[in-house]
Amino acid sequence: MSQSKIYLLGPCAAETETQVRQIAQEIHTCFTPMDGEIIFRAGIWKPRTSPDTFQGIGNEGLAWLSSIQKDMGMKVATEVITPEHVGWCLDAGIRHLWVGARTSANPNAVQALADAMDGRVERVYVKNPVNEDAPLWEGNIQRFENKGIPTMAIHRGCRHKPCWHLAHYLKTHRPNTDILLDPSHMSGNRQYIATLLNTTKQLPYSGLMVELHSTPDKALSDAKQQMLPKDFMAIYQACGWGETIVNNDELQWLRHEIDELDDELWQTILRRMEVSQQIGQYKQQQGMPIVQPTRFQEILSARLEWGKQHHISDDLIRQIMDAIHQESIRKQQ
Ligand code: PEP
Ligand code: MN
Repeated sequence: MSQSKIYLLGPCAAETETQVRQIAQEIHTCFTPMDGEIIFRAGIWKPRTSPDTFQGIGNEGLAWLSSIQKDMGMKVATEVITPEHVGWCLDAGIRHLWVGARTSANPNAVQALADAMDGRVERVYVKNPVNEDAPLWEGNIQRFENKGIPTMAIHRGCRHKPCWHLAHYLKTHRPNTDILLDPSHMSGNRQYIATLLNTTKQLPYSGLMVELHSTPDKALSDAKQQMLPKDFMAIYQACGWGETIVNNDELQWLRHEIDELDDELWQTILRRMEVSQQIGQYKQQQGMPIVQPTRFQEILSARLEWGKQHHISDDLIRQIMDAIHQESIRKQQ
């Protein structure tokens, strides 16, 4: 694992030449990590969910990024999706490339990127796939390492959940692979970034990727999660990220996983209550009684049978199902 930390900072997307220069300048003047390297990030080809949104500036942005590299002495990184992107970046002198979470879900696409890379690539950063598949993430990293390309992982979570088990898996299986944390895509909202920095400062991450923008609310993509460089600097300094002693303690990872599971449990209970309320409305419209004992008995028996297979006691199942059922009846009344 490298000692000094790596910080990939910059906007989600390069929008105009003025915008990227302005953000790069702000990062350059206000962010000084204790011990680390800053790399300016900006996407020019954006894999977006909807074709009706900004798809990235495309090849025009290559020159903007290489001029930041030349004029400000800051290395730049961008996302590559196809082998052509790799060639165009390398020809433009952009030698830090990242593989996004959507591409990372497709091993053939990842192999094609690895095959297109040559000795000019300084480092490739591989994001975890969007589909929570830790072995696939590991396999993607191996595809680049097999080609002798210096590789780091980026943990960006899935569907705005951290999925700590992904980073825990990778650290356990490949203790020497550096992992950077991307709290921006992990949370999808700038208001959670301080909490994520605080909760991860003792975990063995080798750096950060954070989306920064001079006018975040006007950003053409990922507006909610981008931050002002000076605001990021303030929360980074306040929590002491990068200055804290980190360790790969198993208990630390497991506690993060348990907290996330508890959160999912409560989110599921909340969703169940919402559906239950819709059932209540339906019953009311149809003039049906709220309490349906046969239906509850069916649910309970099926769950008790499932519990036997998974060695969960009848007692626990009865207590939880009764409590949930009582709350549902209360909500439907
Ligand atoms: C990005 O970093 O701009 C990006 C598109 O990220 P992800 O692939 O993690 O969604
Ligand atoms: Mn983004």
